[in-house]
Amino acid sequence: MCRLLGSSRPNAARIDRGACESGAIEGEHPAVGRHLPVPVPVRSVPAGSGSPAASTHDGDTVRRLAHSAHGGHTRRLASDPSVDDHDDTPGRPTGRATPVGPVDATVVPRFAGIATFARLPMRDQVEAWDVGVVGIPFDAGTSYRPGARFGPAAVRQGSRLLRPYHPELDVSPFAAVQVVDAGDIACTPFDIEAAVTQIEQAADDLLDQGHRLVAVGGDHTVALPLLRATARRHGPVALVHFDAHLDTWDTYFDARYTHGTPFRRAWEEGLLLPDRAAHVGTRGPLYSAGDLEDDDRMQFWRVSSAEVGERGVADVVASLRERIGDAPVYVSVDIDVLDPAHAPGTGTPEAGGLTSRELLGLLRGLDGLRLVGGDVVEVSPSYDHAELTAIAAAHVTYDLVSLLARRLVADSAS
Ligand code: MN
Ligand code: MN
Repeated sequence: MCRLLGSSRPNAARIDRGACESGAIEGEHPAVGRHLPVPVPVRSVPAGSGSPAASTHDGDTVRRLAHSAHGGHTRRLASDPSVDDHDDTPGRPTGRATPVGPVDATVVPRFAGIATFARLPMRDQVEAWDVGVVGIPFDAGTSYRPGARFGPAAVRQGSRLLRPYHPELDVSPFAAVQVVDAGDIACTPFDIEAAVTQIEQAADDLLDQGHRLVAVGGDHTVALPLLRATARRHGPVALVHFDAHLDTWDTYFDARYTHGTPFRRAWEEGLLLPDRAAHVGTRGPLYSAGDLEDDDRMQFWRVSSAEVGERGVADVVASLRERIGDAPVYVSVDIDVLDPAHAPGTGTPEAGGLTSRELLGLLRGLDGLRLVGGDVVEVSPSYDHAELTAIAAAHVTYDLVSLLARRLVADSAS
């Protein structure tokens, strides 16, 4: 059996799952690195060491371990150097829990192996984690082109080229905290309200284990259950919503839960801080001027795509930061905020959108705010070309993970 956490070796973060010659990580994602043995020595745990993690890797065990490691309500980073996350069971290493990083691309080529997000470990391959990237393959809330149910798989595939250091934010997110691929949330494709409930419960379960989630959709319906789970922990949040569309409509074909209504529902449910919610990148024709009046009534602030171009990224960032202040903030990115030239693979494309450079600049401008979660939604790979949309979404996800990592490390130091 391969041990993946707790090694004191300096290169532990670069341990390759392909190094597990027996491929015997219990409960591992099938075939991850199994046929790619490489001569990297890996600390192994003696059989019968008594470690619960060594003997079983089922979800319940991981959940108990994570809960125990986090001390219930007192959360600690999986990589917090000031604490010892390990028990005293003989045979278990003690000391700093070094995060398990992505597969080493200098050993196993980026195009090889099963795609997890950024080639990170799955959550059942670590004892505790801080940031989970979770797929939500749900698109029953779409109003035009379907297909976002295939978004999570496409974004994982598009994330193979991500590298471990983020120069603009000066962080190696996968070394600063334990980031994992948390798998996909299974929800019914036949009943939207049931799926919303399932997603909320699954997000709750995950947030009981780790600190933060970045969800990859799926259509924008999924933002509502994610906001519910987030607000349950942090109270009402400020919202930065990147989207071509308002998504504050009331109903569509009498349906209350669709990808065009999540933020109306969130506002009605008190999940958003009044006057601290913003749409960025809006454009395109509406049903009527009343759409904007409704949006105003819910105290949303709007920065259109054209305004981002006229004012520039830095100026818009300054306004966003002033508006949000020190409130907990949730960032929801509908990939259709990008121009169809940058993101053709989406359900409701609108001409005249942001460039991917502008979107990434706006996201990086949020560094230092109290980011508590986020999502990247509406990638519909059937309409994509050359993985443009999936790669853009992978980079947006990476930036959200990097922002969360920086904030968690800053919080743990204070
Ligand atoms: Mn949209
Ligand atoms: Mn949307």
